[in-house]
Amino acid sequence: MILRKTQDHDERNRIMKKKKPKRRRKPGKNWKKFWKLGVDGWNTQFFDVNKEGELTANEGHHIYNLNDLALKYGTPLQVIFPFIIEDQLKDLIGYFQAYMKIYGYKGKFSYHYPMKVNQNKEFILPIISEGGNLEVTSINELWIVKKLWEGEKFNSKIRVFCNGPKTDQYLDLVEELRGKEMNIVPIIESSEEVEKLSKYKGDIGVRVNLEVKSDTHWDKKFDLFGLSEKDALDLAKIKNLKVMHYHVGSQIKSQKGILDAVKYAFGIYIKLQKTHSSLDTIDIGGGFGIPYERKKFYTAKGVSNKIVRMLKNLSDKAEIKHPNLAVEWGRYIVAPAQVTLYKVIYKKNILKANANSWYVIDGSFMNDLKDTWAIHQKWHIIPANNMHGSLKTTWLAGSTCDSDDKYTDGGNYVLMPKLHEDQSQFIAVLDTGAYQDGLSSHHCLLSAPLKIVAQDGMIKIFRKRENADSVGKLFGWTNGDHK
Ligand SMILES: *Cc1c(COP(=O)(O)O)cnc(C)c1O
Repeated sequence: MILRKTQDHDERNRIMKKKKPKRRRKPGKNWKKFWKLGVDGWNTQFFDVNKEGELTANEGHHIYNLNDLALKYGTPLQVIFPFIIEDQLKDLIGYFQAYMKIYGYKGKFSYHYPMKVNQNKEFILPIISEGGNLEVTSINELWIVKKLWEGEKFNSKIRVFCNGPKTDQYLDLVEELRGKEMNIVPIIESSEEVEKLSKYKGDIGVRVNLEVKSDTHWDKKFDLFGLSEKDALDLAKIKNLKVMHYHVGSQIKSQKGILDAVKYAFGIYIKLQKTHSSLDTIDIGGGFGIPYERKKFYTAKGVSNKIVRMLKNLSDKAEIKHPNLAVEWGRYIVAPAQVTLYKVIYKKNILKANANSWYVIDGSFMNDLKDTWAIHQKWHIIPANNMHGSLKTTWLAGSTCDSDDKYTDGGNYVLMPKLHEDQSQFIAVLDTGAYQDGLSSHHCLLSAPLKIVAQDGMIKIFRKRENADSVGKLFGWTNGDHK
């Protein structure tokens, strides 16, 4: 099937090439627009092209030149922009609060950052500083939260939701932190946990596996997380049940997918509240998508407006108090805050395909941007220099020895500048801040990218470049062993 698709594309492309080859290759003078930068709804408002044709990121009046950073620090390079996280979150909280005011909504809004999306310190701290709460899925994530708590790194008003299957150790840590007066809410994930949490004194949540279809990339027919609707509604009374939680998937494709789930969940919420009067919060989980392909996409402003209006109308109609609303949109907040840079090492011609050349890069899609391989994720990939040079159609290949280590934009092509003998060509992958780090690996023992943080006009090295010794160590090769 994939083959056929490629051939169709091939055919179409050949026809297209005949008709309008110039338009695609000579895009005019508005390079910012051509590379789809500077657009609010696409989260590219932070990026621009300078006069020299180099990619820049703008933090207020500070300008970071990504070509210069690649030259100075070398590639592969990951650049983290905490100000983007702060902007995204500030805006999101602002939208919900504004619409609650406009519609006279009485419930409270809270944002919970799902830590699994990116656990790096430079991602979590900006979220906390902007008033985000947390959501953890494992004991090790909760351990980080414990360290922050003990270091008095956050406001004691912060609330932590605990998801995921709970081992005894995980539950012990939850208890320990509640004992230290943290507002920590375990979310019941299975019937076994109802029993285990029966003596828990703090607030409790329950995750319901909604029988609603959602159009996510990962739409699974049989979700294994949470209680079935029936089990949730049959729950024996839990006197401190406070939160009803659901999560229908990630990268939801349409606004309708998000809104349908809220509406459906509200129906369950009303029923559950009849038996549990303490229930006052609905947590709609994650799933808000990123317009990776820079096509028409829904916006946070539009969706927050509709969610608040809908919850207001539904609860007024049902004559119940407006529920507090918790949101766990992770990808949406952090994906745009990291750019991954590679250098093209060499090119190879491709004889019969939609692209003319392979550009082989000095890093790996399979290792550093795992979703490229795992779920055929599409990315917004652009050059970081020569952005107004003449262009070629390319496919990109990573430098592991694996034929799956490539990016072809789903069998189409990626536009890149022609290579120049005397100059490095850098490529930038945008929106790499969500999920890729936790999933990354060391196929062929390649080193992970160097990580730097750009903030307040300054650059800080956050993770050193791995060398042969440090990568070898991960596989048990310590000094002297080789003999
Ligand atoms: C993964 C996850 C999220 C985050 O999903 P995004 O698609 O990144 O918004 C939120 N809540 C739960 C329970 C999750 O498992």
